[in-house]
Amino acid sequence: MADFNTLIKDWYRLNKRDLPWRQTKDPFKIWLSEIILQQTKVEQGLSYYLKFTDHFQTAEDLAKTSEQEVLNLWQGLGYYSRARNLHFTAKTIVNEHKGTFPNTYTGLLKLKGVGSYTAAAIASFCFDESVAVVDGNVYRVLSRVFDVKIAMDSSEGKKYFFDLAQNLIDKVEPALFNQSIMEFGALQCVPKNPNCEICPLESICLSKSNGTWMNRPVKSKKTSVKNRFFHFLIFQKDQTTYLQKRSGKDIWQNLYQFPLIETQEDSELNNFENYSPFPPSKISAEIVHVLSHQKIHARFYHFNQLPLLINSDWMAVKIAEIQDFPIPRLIDRYLETETIE
Ligand code: SF4
Repeated sequence: MADFNTLIKDWYRLNKRDLPWRQTKDPFKIWLSEIILQQTKVEQGLSYYLKFTDHFQTAEDLAKTSEQEVLNLWQGLGYYSRARNLHFTAKTIVNEHKGTFPNTYTGLLKLKGVGSYTAAAIASFCFDESVAVVDGNVYRVLSRVFDVKIAMDSSEGKKYFFDLAQNLIDKVEPALFNQSIMEFGALQCVPKNPNCEICPLESICLSKSNGTWMNRPVKSKKTSVKNRFFHFLIFQKDQTTYLQKRSGKDIWQNLYQFPLIETQEDSELNNFENYSPFPPSKISAEIVHVLSHQKIHARFYHFNQLPLLINSDWMAVKIAEIQDFPIPRLIDRYLETETIE
């Protein structure tokens, strides 16, 4: 019987997508692609990868630019801490590593924003180190092929899956093995309704023969989602509005937003006397924006005037210049449908 390794590599050679980061062994470009693709689908991440590699050829280029410019380029991709870590790490590479990436898994792990998955990807793709990548796709493929009942999100599960992948990895071609298993999970052994009838691993897939594939991988925790209620105030007069910069340890750190009132409960605001003698000229319908652990319920309140009271962190901005500021995707989406002037 053919083994897992041979089958999965043969499948990859025939089915892999032609993606630009697969044409290079440059650690800067591989690192960029891996950070962009965290929590982002390939179809969406591709244009950002092309944009970033167009602007920055090296870590030095990226380190020299401002954080605001990096956030602007990142706009629309979400999870902005990735962009901030990207910029921070580019400066670390320049200042502490003379512009050269560490060339081992252990060395890479010391970089900010680089966890075990990303370190394994860079170490194997760029430096042929035989260390296994274990991402969501890999958990799914291994749990199904070997019918693993241990919860993937338990500490026992994490160790079990890493050891299993590490035992399987091709010591001669680790990059090819890692790419193959990830791509197989992304295209063939997909979360819902995988087409097992055309799967080259069907003959060795234990969860297929046991009829358990739909319950693999096993997860122990349910992610709790917090509901938050955001009310954005859009003052608009003489082509001017107000923005505030988000600070503190919260979502969208260092991004700009319309002045925000956050409430604990889900209800429309109706008292604006500190800011305006008149009620809003328009209130948007509720917009729900889902993040990994939070669900934002947002409303936008439009006022055809400038505010009576200006909080210290608000700044007047020309409406035409809003797009020069890095803004959360939620606000970007709203502005795509709503004209303010
Ligand atoms: S047979 Fe089905 S469940 Fe098993 S690896 Fe193939 S696609 Fe996944």
